Amino acid sequence: MRYPIDLHIHTSANPHAYSTLEENIRSAQEKKMEVIAITNHGPALQDSPHWWSLVNMRVIPEYIGNLRVLKGVETNIIDENGNFDINQRIYDVMDIILCGLHTVEAYGDPSNIIKNTKAVINMIKSQKIDVMVHLGNPQFPLEYELVVQEAVKEGVAIEINNSSLRSSRKGSEVNCKKILELCKKYDAKVTLGTDSHISYDIGEFKEAQSLISEVGYPIEKIINFSKENLEKFLEDRKKRRVKRI
Ligand SMILES: [Zn+2]
Ligand SMILES: [Zn+2]
Repeated sequence: MRYPIDLHIHTSANPHAYSTLEENIRSAQEKKMEVIAITNHGPALQDSPHWWSLVNMRVIPEYIGNLRVLKGVETNIIDENGNFDINQRIYDVMDIILCGLHTVEAYGDPSNIIKNTKAVINMIKSQKIDVMVHLGNPQFPLEYELVVQEAVKEGVAIEINNSSLRSSRKGSEVNCKKILELCKKYDAKVTLGTDSHISYDIGEFKEAQSLISEVGYPIEKIINFSKENLEKFLEDRKKRRVKRI
């Protein structure tokens, strides 16, 4: 089976990604995807689009043919106090807000497990983001159990990032397995993202699918399993998300 939804896709607005918005849309349509989220990086990364590119996503139609296109962003944690790198104008445009730990100058040392755990927990508590992405990255050690428990409490989803399992964040596999096992134990919401930086990767979740069956997380609970799951999740997030950041 192919998950009909991909919630983590970059376009060439980030210079290190290679497909335009239209190329991504075409690929998703060819693969008969139902929903994609375009989630370019927040401004704190060196290779981010200009912030106007994020604000101006409002011009993208909600549906292109039968494909629903969610306006999204992958924000960066910039400190341990629940702050990220987008402003109110960007925030107001977004249907879905991802957030992750990346090597950004403002954040500093990535190896401190206490600092990282506090940063992620405070971000989840802030109710400004919907999904925590690629938490298995060994570059940013974390107390996974505390993070998953907090995510459950606040209704924030945990992403299983297919790209982490394939090539981008070496050594993630073991951590991702631990995280997914905890998601199963605590009944956490799980999303899947390919983290595509080229259109061909959209919807390709082979590695994530093997992990899901290995761990035995119920696939019908995965948010990407159906449009109904996604709608329910986004509605719940709309209620929980703070209005002013
Ligand atoms: Zn990322
Ligand atoms: Zn990404």
